[in-house]
Amino acid sequence: MFEKLDCKVNANLSEYSTMKIGGKAKFLLFPKNEKELVKILKICKEQNLKTFILGNGSNVLFDDKGFNGAVISLKKLDKIEVCGECVKVGAGINLFALNLRLQKLGLSGLEFCYGIPASLGGFLFMNGGCFGHEICEVVDEVYVFDGERKRTIKNKDCGFDYRTSNLQKYVILGAKLHLKHEKSEKIAQNMESFYQKKRDSQPLDFPSLGSVFKIIKTNPEIHPAKLIDKMGLKGVKIGRAEVSKKHAGFIVNLGGATSKDVFELICFLEAKLKEQGVQPQREIVVLKET
Ligand SMILES: Cc1cc2nc3c(=O)[nH]c(=O)nc-3n(C[C@H](O)[C@H](O)[C@H](O)COP(=O)(O)OP(=O)(O)OC[C@H]3O[C@@H](n4cnc5c(N)ncnc54)[C@H](O)[C@@H]3O)c2cc1C
Repeated sequence: MFEKLDCKVNANLSEYSTMKIGGKAKFLLFPKNEKELVKILKICKEQNLKTFILGNGSNVLFDDKGFNGAVISLKKLDKIEVCGECVKVGAGINLFALNLRLQKLGLSGLEFCYGIPASLGGFLFMNGGCFGHEICEVVDEVYVFDGERKRTIKNKDCGFDYRTSNLQKYVILGAKLHLKHEKSEKIAQNMESFYQKKRDSQPLDFPSLGSVFKIIKTNPEIHPAKLIDKMGLKGVKIGRAEVSKKHAGFIVNLGGATSKDVFELICFLEAKLKEQGVQPQREIVVLKET
């Protein structure tokens, strides 16, 4: 069905999530350009095959039962085109590689997200951010595929808000970002200082998906991670999944955790937060096979 395309059959999804959990995908595809991506989507539609667009897998909990469809990884859509203080970047590039390239080019503005194991596409999808910055601050326009054709969406029409955007109904192909010229050494210092803050506060030595819950938008004072900590739930385990002892917002895989372990731990935390009068909202994506 996917002749001449980079396609793995019965691919192990655990290798493609930073949580290191997941069964097998019937197909795992790596389009090397937009034309191939559109071709793959067309075949999937004709064959009635479910699809899932994968960035860097840093926010997806795959099911141990796997995915009976086509997972489409955009990691090969990673081109960078420089035009003055702007760059046009493919959605599949990961933020480590993008930051290192920008640092060499002497372009500043993205250092805040150095250390986050995301792809640009995934980060745009949910308007990711940290340390008071969000990706939307540097976006000029986003290129998407709407199922029929490629479209350009200007920043103001992307619906960027706290950990969300209205890009979620599209396949994100890339974006034009505006940055500022800066000395490479200064950019490197900024990157390192942001990364160090992450290393100090987050359990980066264990597989995880980052923060499980969003801050409550209507009341940012109510911070799920702080509440979980206050309830003394750091270190609580189900199977091999644990509420991180370092950061109460993270669930870590101690090695050998199942999707069921993690899912049950999420549900347990949700019940505990509800007892405190908080309506928790998941930041992570749970891809459950039904
Ligand atoms: C150690 C660690 C630290 C983290 N720190 C932060 C942080 O500081 N701030 C923060 O905001 N997040 C953080 N995260 C969470 C995570 O990195 C973000 O949610 C990120 O945006 C996910 O990007 P991804 O490419 O890995 O997406 P995936 O996990 O691959 O996908 C997430 C969702 O986006 C969709 N998607 C991905 N790419 C595309 C695309 N091109 N087109 C359409 N849909 C797409 C997927 O279908 C899925 O629904 C952290 C995660 C980890 C593991």
